[in-house]
Amino acid sequence: MAYAIRVHKTGGPEALKYEEVQVGAPGAGEVRLKQHAIGVNYIDVYLRTGLYPQPTSPFVPGMEGAGEVMAVGAGVTDLKVGDRVAYAGPAGGYSTERLIAADRVVKMPDGIDYKTAAAMMLQGMTVRYLVRKTFNVGKGTTCLWHAAAGGVGLIACQWVKHLGGTLIGTAGGPEKVKLALDHGAAHCIDYKKDKDFVAKVKELTGGKLCDVVYDSIGKDTFPASLDCLKPRGLFVTFGNASGPIEAFNPGILAAKGSLFMTRPSLAAYTSSRADLVETANDLFDVVSKGVVKINVNHTYSLKDAAQAHIDLEARKTTGSIVLLP
Ligand code: NDP
Repeated sequence: MAYAIRVHKTGGPEALKYEEVQVGAPGAGEVRLKQHAIGVNYIDVYLRTGLYPQPTSPFVPGMEGAGEVMAVGAGVTDLKVGDRVAYAGPAGGYSTERLIAADRVVKMPDGIDYKTAAAMMLQGMTVRYLVRKTFNVGKGTTCLWHAAAGGVGLIACQWVKHLGGTLIGTAGGPEKVKLALDHGAAHCIDYKKDKDFVAKVKELTGGKLCDVVYDSIGKDTFPASLDCLKPRGLFVTFGNASGPIEAFNPGILAAKGSLFMTRPSLAAYTSSRADLVETANDLFDVVSKGVVKINVNHTYSLKDAAQAHIDLEARKTTGSIVLLP
């Protein structure tokens, strides 16, 4: 018997229904997975509320997981029953078993357990493309990273430090600030206390400001985030935890110093198999070497996915969240 959390009608956390489902045999190019751990990400909230278009109706949320191959479909030659694999997308993760295209999963290295893998594939590969591809962070790079104690944030603190960059974080409350600092942030602004984070960034950089701002908050931090950038700096808006940025006149980018702006997605940076494998391998490398530690700070049973969403949206969580089937 297989079970999944399904959304029939988008809405609040109560839209997440735990139901028995038929999984079926894998089709050509697919594998069937027995899932051992499932990652929870902010994108799951956007899909549940309807902010992002739902893939199917009903749909099973969840973009991230790790498990073992139970069956392989026709034409799958590089995976076999029993292989340990992990993935970040497509949706369908909140389930005990699922079908997935074989070219979207990667084999897990021996030293990484299922819980860690489920917690890191989406957030870790996101940080990897943001710091290596969207902007090439290195010695001398100063960046501002909002929500530095979150799932993506704690990985970013460690990875930016590893690359020799200086990360100025923001986080809500002293405990979160401490967590970000403990994970490698050079500074962390408590934006609950210091609401004018622009002034703090000016102070911390001696007026030099940042080369790049990574903003996943959206509405609440825009356009203030732009004022943290040097002329010709890069504004990376990659999420909308407080709601999406409203339409604006691009002339603001000229007025604030010929700024660049991008709105990237993990899907676009890992759409080819080669990009997915390169990104995953880089992540496995930093985690296996202990350069980046994955903090699974919250674990819930799959049945309790709604509570995980309530806590994530209430800003009660830090690091990564995992559901266990
Ligand atoms: P987090 O663990 O970072 O949780 C979100 C955090 O955002 C909260 O803990 C909170 O931290 C902060 N926040 C600020 N304002 C609000 C608000 N109004 N409501 C809720 N939270 C708020 O989540 P994830 O690590 O899963 O994701 C982080 C962000 O990265 C998300 O916006 C997500 O969409 C984005 N993302 C984008 C990807 C892409 O490729 N474009 C891929 C992966 C993630 P605090 O209290 O410290 O402010």
